[in-house]
Amino acid sequence: MATDTVTSAPILGSATRSKILKNFIDGEWVESVSGETFENQNPADTRDLVGIFQKSGKQDIDAAIEAAKRAFAKWRLVPAPRRAEIVYRAAEMLIERKEEYARDMTREMGKILKETRGDVQEAIDTAYYMAGEGRRMFGPTTPSELPNKFAMAIRQPLGVCAMITPWNFPMAIPSWKLLPAIVCGNTCVIKPAQDTPLSTFNLVRTLTDAGVPRGVLNIVSGFGSRLGAPLMEHPDVRAISLTGSTDVGRIVGTTAAKSFKHCSLELGGKNPMIVLDDANLELALDGGLWGGFGTTGQRCTATSRIIVQKGVYGEFAHRYVERAKTLKIGNGLDESVDMGPAINEAQLKTDLNYVEIGRSEGAKLLCGGHRLEQGEFKYGWFMEPTVFGDVDPKMRIAQEEIFGPVVSIIPCDNLEHAIQIANDIEYGLSSALYTKDVNRAFKAMRDLHAGITYINAPTIGAEVHLPFGGVKATGNGHREGGIGAIDFYTEWKSVYVDYSDKLQKAQIDRGD
Ligand code: NAD
Repeated sequence: MATDTVTSAPILGSATRSKILKNFIDGEWVESVSGETFENQNPADTRDLVGIFQKSGKQDIDAAIEAAKRAFAKWRLVPAPRRAEIVYRAAEMLIERKEEYARDMTREMGKILKETRGDVQEAIDTAYYMAGEGRRMFGPTTPSELPNKFAMAIRQPLGVCAMITPWNFPMAIPSWKLLPAIVCGNTCVIKPAQDTPLSTFNLVRTLTDAGVPRGVLNIVSGFGSRLGAPLMEHPDVRAISLTGSTDVGRIVGTTAAKSFKHCSLELGGKNPMIVLDDANLELALDGGLWGGFGTTGQRCTATSRIIVQKGVYGEFAHRYVERAKTLKIGNGLDESVDMGPAINEAQLKTDLNYVEIGRSEGAKLLCGGHRLEQGEFKYGWFMEPTVFGDVDPKMRIAQEEIFGPVVSIIPCDNLEHAIQIANDIEYGLSSALYTKDVNRAFKAMRDLHAGITYINAPTIGAEVHLPFGGVKATGNGHREGGIGAIDFYTEWKSVYVDYSDKLQKAQIDRGD
């Protein structure tokens, strides 16, 4: 969690391992021009200071963009397979550093070690995948309509790219953006979430150790409200990639549009999991618990709505609640813990406020709903896993993204009714169906309004080589992961080579 208290603490070391972390601009660790800093505490124990980071401003952003612009002139000319080799080396180094970085991440954002190891692994997977892309980056070579003429389309880098990232996947999400961007020949300025800059520093430090040249990757830490405008409005930034809330997406999207910048928005979700009467109930319970309470419900793909057919509704709800009550809450560094804290006090307040909203709307609180603050929980932002039953799909708790451990169970009549409930929402990121009936599975795959559909698995668990993103208010049509990322970080150039030695006019010199 980030505390917006300005300290005038002296900048001590230059290494990222010290508690004070500087910005990384043009290959140097530098303090913010203003000298202001902010503190980050462990959300499971706020007495644990994770780091002191630079509270940057416009001048820091300008310096980082200038460095990235200078570096682009050379980096774009490095052959893509060579660029990709550096990324491959970084993957190997991340494997060695995985445990250390996972522990850093658990301290800075609270999710349990199993999950933070997975977060680092996602960066490793992305690095291997993108390293392979350096030898592909395919474009079409196609016949010309004219004789003695050659036609092809090649991918070109965009230039300086700006990345703005959230706190819930503090290494995986920066890796989805930075790695394809640099393999494609771009240079980057990243502003990590103020609650979790350390994991981004760890990623960039590794890429630098692997050989990424100075200026290609730059980090400016601080608050989006202050850094967003100078980053997005700068004329030398050609592309902006944001993962964050739909509200911030609206600001970023409209700002980028004014100067025709490429803009990729990965935003909120309110993801449904449908359980039909014929489902393997045990499997659906496992999936619903993992999807609902993994990362303390703080995933854009979290299973926040479980839509259950009436024949199994009672049994499912009863067993789901019994199992939710047994989840062990605590500090994620303890290997026996199932669920960590909320990221910060504001998020915890939001979660508790939604409990009140659910109650006042008439939903049945089946378990949880309280803050945990005694004993071992005293210094953290903990709450109980919370389940509402008999939820009406129109209630606010079933429509709005809570981003916490609050799950709504909604009864439905049949698959068609379930899909109607699932789709009647502004978001469209992930979705899931539990059934043994292949016909119904295919209908759901076709009809659910979402960028991702899982069959017999919960709404979380994306793999890096497939497109990741959503429809409606979840984004603006771009995809991260897989080839979609290469599409975003390159621009097409069509090239015609006429070797006929005479003027040939397309569409006119047809010879008929
Ligand atoms: P957030 O929108 O509050 O912040 C995201 C980033 O935007 C942060 O770095 C923040 O500093 C920055 N920001 C804030 N105000 C800004 C402004 N005015 N201009 C520019 N940047 C600004 O989101 P969060 O709380 O960090 O993350 C949670 C949200 O992210 C949830 O809505 C979640 O669904 C979404 N998310 C989406 C995906 C996805 O891929 N679709 C993945 C993870 C998280």
